[in-house]
Amino acid sequence: LAKLRARLARSNNALGRGLLTLLSSDTLDEGTWEEIEDTLILADLGVDTTTELVDALRERVRVIGTRDPETIKALLREELVRVVDPTMDRELKVYREGEDPAVVLVVGVNGAGKTTTVGKIARVLVAEGRSVLLGAADTFRAAAADQLTTWGDRVGVETVRGPEGGDPASVAFSAVERGRTEGTDVVLVDTAGRLQNKKGLMDELGKVKRVASRPLSEGHGIDEVLLVLDATTGQNGMQQAKVFAEAVDISGIVLTKLDGTAKGGIVVAVQRELGVPVKLIGLGEGADDLAPFTAEGFVDALLD
Ligand code: GDP
Repeated sequence: LAKLRARLARSNNALGRGLLTLLSSDTLDEGTWEEIEDTLILADLGVDTTTELVDALRERVRVIGTRDPETIKALLREELVRVVDPTMDRELKVYREGEDPAVVLVVGVNGAGKTTTVGKIARVLVAEGRSVLLGAADTFRAAAADQLTTWGDRVGVETVRGPEGGDPASVAFSAVERGRTEGTDVVLVDTAGRLQNKKGLMDELGKVKRVASRPLSEGHGIDEVLLVLDATTGQNGMQQAKVFAEAVDISGIVLTKLDGTAKGGIVVAVQRELGVPVKLIGLGEGADDLAPFTAEGFVDALLD
């Protein structure tokens, strides 16, 4: 985890350094506050959030009457933690219930990192001693199912596949049904990320979700629908995220490729926009490059 924090800090240090330089400047005047705002906006925090945060920070600095950079840095940290929201429930719901495996659907546009994320989550669960089954419900691209199977082999779990061009929902159904029969703890279903029109996406994901829950006991639905988002796509990614969130009820966000961007502020923007917590972050292409997200840990990495 220390390694991951270091990597996140490195990719974000432009932001942290910039802010600290500004806070340490001799004159904390109007110009400095504007530069602080610009720095946060450039980090994709969003204009509204930035304005709100800087206003609150300025007010606190004024009330305390401090000019000490360390004190201001501590206040900034508090304000950032507040906007990232430490009260959101970020626990991944991956607990078997009676006969039913926990079922996690992973959705998002192609290239966002869905398959990689499924592999990484499987790896974590297996390390915790839990049994896992993968479902390759992206039947549109043969390569997608192959890639998922490769991840499964690497992590030591099996992958349920369907015929190419087959019905994604029926693959999801088979995976969940098999998971139930075999007493598997968690079934992770990778879905197709074709960004067709909203209606098409809605029909497709809605059906996968509905059909995948059929083998489960009455009243027990899908445990998690995770939206995977590429942090490097910034505000464009936000638009796509909204389309997915409208198409299917999302329970959590996985923000990938945070190792490749200094725009970590997108975490805040996307949470606020969708009203759903970021639960996991991807920090590289490797199997271990996945970390749970916490507001404090994230802000510390941002400001380190
Ligand atoms: P999918 O189409 O949504 O299933 O996306 P993939 O899982 O195939 O990932 C697309 C590309 O992004 C691959 O080259 C992955 O190795 C890469 N990738 C996924 N997650 C991360 C991450 O957290 N950091 C980095 N740097 N690359 C990632």
